[in-house]
Amino acid sequence: MNDAYDIIVVGAGIVGVSTALHLQQRGRRVLLLDKQEPGRETSFGNSGNIESSYVLPFTPPAFSKIPGILLGNSASARMSYPSGLKFIPWVCDFYLKSRTETRIKNGHALRPLIAPSVEEHKKLMQGTDAAKYFHTTGRVKIHRSQASFQSAALERDVAREEGVPFEVLGVEAFREREPHIRPVFYKAVCWTGSARLSDPGAVVVLYAGKFTAAGGTFKADPVKAVAKAAGGWHVQCAGQGYAANDVVVCAGPWSPTLLKPLGYNPPLGLKRGYHRHFTAAEGKLSHNITDADAGYVMSPMEQGIRIATGAEFASLDAPANDVQISQVLPHARELFPLGEAVEKQSWMGSRPCFTDSLPAIGMVKGQKGLWVNIGHGHSGLTIGPSSGRLIAEMMTGDKPFCDPTPYSPMRFV
Ligand SMILES: Cc1cc2nc3c(=O)[nH]c(=O)nc-3n(C[C@H](O)[C@H](O)[C@H](O)COP(=O)(O)OP(=O)(O)OC[C@H]3O[C@@H](n4cnc5c(N)ncnc54)[C@H](O)[C@@H]3O)c2cc1C
Repeated sequence: MNDAYDIIVVGAGIVGVSTALHLQQRGRRVLLLDKQEPGRETSFGNSGNIESSYVLPFTPPAFSKIPGILLGNSASARMSYPSGLKFIPWVCDFYLKSRTETRIKNGHALRPLIAPSVEEHKKLMQGTDAAKYFHTTGRVKIHRSQASFQSAALERDVAREEGVPFEVLGVEAFREREPHIRPVFYKAVCWTGSARLSDPGAVVVLYAGKFTAAGGTFKADPVKAVAKAAGGWHVQCAGQGYAANDVVVCAGPWSPTLLKPLGYNPPLGLKRGYHRHFTAAEGKLSHNITDADAGYVMSPMEQGIRIATGAEFASLDAPANDVQISQVLPHARELFPLGEAVEKQSWMGSRPCFTDSLPAIGMVKGQKGLWVNIGHGHSGLTIGPSSGRLIAEMMTGDKPFCDPTPYSPMRFV
């Protein structure tokens, strides 16, 4: 019945575009839909880390920071009122799942997607100009005190066990690599296997271009509803309707809106984040630097030096409040000689997160042909290409390159 397309992919962020490319490479006729041009949302504004060295899920701030989160004076996380209050049960579950044993277990479960992330990006880059945005000077975490360095010992212990490379450098040794960083820190942990993209949004656009150049169809048309139809699925857009045998929802933080009417309500939390670019008043920066104590990431991007914030608990449509940018800026200026802001306003996006920090990849039970690839949290830019490969292998009957069980979309029900 579906003459034009075998599969419809909804959402053209890094996850949807990677999914569409991998399905196409396996001979499927794919329609990729987005409400706008590819790579304009969360996949545009992140810190650009391809964190192949990530061994433990992101943790919530220490309990002692909870008053600051609630009162809005903690830069690393902030509760927005009133819309963030609905996330309190989600946040409690996130704290529960951040106990050491569970964290190690979930970190281990995520490794099969994380470990090949640099290589999976390189494969998608072939035949595109994306390599010009790819840099091997990846993630560095700076600690401003010995206590802060000690508090992250678990991450380094697990990395050693897993054979993930890193170097611990003192102030002067790191300043040989980054001469314009000021000596306001105690140690720099360089995750030498990680990489970075200096324009993640542009890279998604180039991946989408590779898909259309190879005969794939992309349409910018907002999806209004997904429904079962005879022999497959019907996707109703604002402009027109499309039919296919299978549908994959990759709509990032918007996914529950499309899935709830189909009886699948994934418990997706949102951690909004902001970024703003600044000129370098002096010198340049070559690595992405996470300031572990001040709660921001500083990344050299094509547009300037991007300062990106931690989490804001707020609904998708709550008004933007970039106070976290103002809170971290003095710390960022102390670390690196930032100049003027490039834009008048900060960018805002939403990380789509499950409390176990694992994505949901697979078919929705009882809904043959309805697939999801969602919930990539803090690591979607990193694992988008590998999760796109995994779901394409599952959908086409190829042997999955890793065990998809930990990512089952049905683990919540
Ligand atoms: C401040 C910040 C920093 C981050 N830093 C990093 C980092 O350094 N490294 C890393 O790996 N990850 C990072 N992340 C996380 C990463 O950006 C996300 O996990 C990833 O972009 C999610 O990709 P996605 O494709 O699922 O979502 P999105 O990029 O949001 O894509 C979803 C798409 O669905 C479309 N859509 C939604 N609804 C509809 C509809 N009804 N019809 C049609 N289309 C629709 C949207 O337009 C959008 O294009 C960061 C996130 C933030 C906010």
